[in-house]
Formats: sequence, structure tokens, C-alpha cells
Amino acid sequence: MTKFKKGDEVQVTSGKDKGKKGKIEKVFRLENKVVVTGINMYKRHRKVSRSQAAGIYEITRPVDIAKIQLVCPKCNKLTKVGIKLEGKTKQRICKKCKGVI
Ligand SMILES: [Zn+2]
Repeated sequence: MTKFKKGDEVQVTSGKDKGKKGKIEKVFRLENKVVVTGINMYKRHRKVSRSQAAGIYEITRPVDIAKIQLVCPKCNKLTKVGIKLEGKTKQRICKKCKGVI
């Protein structure tokens, strides 16, 4: 079970986007990285090709999960995710308010 999943709101805790918040768009489980909307954006210059016009466009690069923290939807605080075993199903819980996320 991964600690982060698509749709989670997270805040960046280090790097150039420190303090910014966004929603997880995609999780790369093996690489321990996630793509977060509006975070880790880079500008690329594009040359003219047959199918595209020239210009500057932005790409979003994956962020290491070590650099983000979850914003708990229950208590709205930055928190670490805990895993609780409830019978046979695993649940994610907020370590601050103990709420199920
Ligand atoms: Zn909480």
C-alpha cells in the first residue's frame, strides 16, 4: 500500500517549490515519485515542426515523495501518513488527528 495516492493534497517541503500545495496527478510507485499539479514545472522552448507551432510550453516533472507531505483532509494540517490494519483491510490514517484518510 502506498502512502500517497492520486487526488491527495500535498505540500512541498524542500526544493524550489517549497511551501507550495497541489494535488497528486500521478503516482510512480517504483520510483517513489509523484506528479503534483503546478509543482516542479519547467519551461521548454519548442521549435517549429510540422505538427506544432514554436513557443514556450511548461512540463511538470515528478517530485520525490521524500520532498512532500500530505495535507490531511480532516484536520488540514501537514501530516505523515500512518497505516492501520482494520481487520483484513489496511487504512491510511493521519498521524496528527488519527482520522482515516
Ligand atoms: Zn489529520
